[in-house]
Amino acid sequence: MERVFNFSAGPAVLPLEVLQEAQKDLLALPGVGMSVLEISHRSKPFQAIIDSAEANIRKLMNIPENYRVMFLQGGALLQFAMLPMNLLGGKSADYLVTGTWSKKAKSEAKLVGASRVIWDGGETNYNSLPTNDEIKAAVAPDAAYLYYASNETIQGVQFAAEPEVDVPLVCDASSEFFYKPINIEKYGCVFACAQKNCGPAGVTLVVMRDDFVARSPELPSLLSYSKLAAEQSMLNTPPCFSIYVVKLVTDWLLNTVGGLSAMYEINKKKAALLYDVIDASGGYYIGHAKKECRSLMNVPFKMQTDALDKTFLEEAAKAGLQSLAGHRSVGGFRASIYNAMPMEGVEKLAAFMKEFMEKHG
Ligand code: PMP
Repeated sequence: MERVFNFSAGPAVLPLEVLQEAQKDLLALPGVGMSVLEISHRSKPFQAIIDSAEANIRKLMNIPENYRVMFLQGGALLQFAMLPMNLLGGKSADYLVTGTWSKKAKSEAKLVGASRVIWDGGETNYNSLPTNDEIKAAVAPDAAYLYYASNETIQGVQFAAEPEVDVPLVCDASSEFFYKPINIEKYGCVFACAQKNCGPAGVTLVVMRDDFVARSPELPSLLSYSKLAAEQSMLNTPPCFSIYVVKLVTDWLLNTVGGLSAMYEINKKKAALLYDVIDASGGYYIGHAKKECRSLMNVPFKMQTDALDKTFLEEAAKAGLQSLAGHRSVGGFRASIYNAMPMEGVEKLAAFMKEFMEKHG
């Protein structure tokens, strides 16, 4: 069976080694004689899997003891509501609205409590990001937290560094988690749905500082960080298989890639291949994001008109380059080049884009 290069924004490509490992052990985990799909989440083998996933994440991201790592359900979307439910403590939170996902997070927060938009890039269809001076000037000193999405999956804008402000940061890193080393101590919370850069759909990774976890008021159990953390994400049956694959992905990052610094170097090279083609195309290809905030993970671009969009997608698919259609709010194309996208796939796409331009341009 031939695998194509899959540029989907998520669920997205997984490392081939991870799929092979999952396939190899699917019928029976070594020494267990049962599939990971069949064992109790309270069993020793599953406890070993979740412990190992957490240990890997802690090692990769250099997470100190005063942070909890949680494996939650409900996708990143549920976090949009849980965060204000748990963290507001009667205060208001400030939001940077830099694209579709932070906009959605703000609209969910509004249903829960007080929050404010302090920057919104909607006028230019979210192709830029605020400067740190703009953020600093706008953020309320007594905000419960500053919320932002470090990478907007649809618009392809990505913060090169976290905002430097005096209030705690809460960050949706769904489409960039594990793409480079970060200083976790700058955050009260970083979270990510797994199905882009960490594993399959079904589990959401939440890394939260203890004083944030302790902010939870009395809430139904599955909505309360303090109750979830107290039970080590096992208040109820967790998404066992997804957590198992996260363990395999983090094994791959540690042992095959060699950690997040090595991953970052590869990601920079991959993104440069595509942006170089866009920039050298003399306007044939137009990137959506402004140069200074281009994402290394999601590369949305279009051509001057959409007349050849269908042809581009059809010819790309024939060349084994799939799932390149852009989101309808941006149009054109989007190449999601997460950690697991091999360099070869990006090289092939870059070559295809050049050939397409020569043929049709
Ligand atoms: N945040 C970002 C940045 C996303 O890209 C997505 C999914 N595309 C979400 C949140 C929502 O994630 P989920 O579908 O897991 O709720």
